Amino acid sequence: MQQSILLIEDEESLARFVELELQHEGYAVVKRFDGREGLDEALQGAYDLILLDIMLPGLNGLEVLRRLRREKQTPVILLTARDAVMDKVTGLDAGAEDYITKPFAIEELLARIRTALRRRAAAPAADVLRVGPVALDPLRHIVTVNGQEVTLTGREFQLLQYMMENEDIVLSRETLLSTVWGYDYLGETNVVDVYIRYLRQKIDETHHVKTLHTIRGVGYVMKAEDSHV
Ligand code: CA
Repeated sequence: MQQSILLIEDEESLARFVELELQHEGYAVVKRFDGREGLDEALQGAYDLILLDIMLPGLNGLEVLRRLRREKQTPVILLTARDAVMDKVTGLDAGAEDYITKPFAIEELLARIRTALRRRAAAPAADVLRVGPVALDPLRHIVTVNGQEVTLTGREFQLLQYMMENEDIVLSRETLLSTVWGYDYLGETNVVDVYIRYLRQKIDETHHVKTLHTIRGVGYVMKAEDSHV
């Protein structure tokens, strides 16, 4: 399977050169020239690796890395123009896999990419579910909205997970009840309404987003709506 790399680098000629070399090696490459756009792409896409410049417009690379790490463990190799020890230490502390100092030989970068990908293959990353601003990590049992952690009860977590796994699919009360609560509860579908209300309070209302929608007479659906708060 082709591996994909996100390259976040504002020097367009360097980005183009690295892109061509990576494509030549068989990688799929997506480029972003701005920290903020790079972070969005990193959060939304499913990349095997990210090459991240530190000095970036929009949002600097270390901040991109910190925000990314709240939600994803995609391996990151930092590209730093400065030979500053501080950046490297901060970068590795913030969760970078490796760093390389510019100017670098492309062979060295390729070798470091192969190493990072091999290391990652040995320890598969957890699949974090995402619907718009909401992220749910089933293994670590953590839910965040716009990066801020939300505390849920066990049942709320199960309900949210099931709805996120079925993003954009309208789920009836009966389906939710039998899946999340089990058949013993069948008949008492208003318990679903109560828990949807709890989730709405904790997620949508507290964080000013809209993800849990009521479809009158049918049930509920979890879907993202672009909301810039
Ligand atoms: Ca730069």
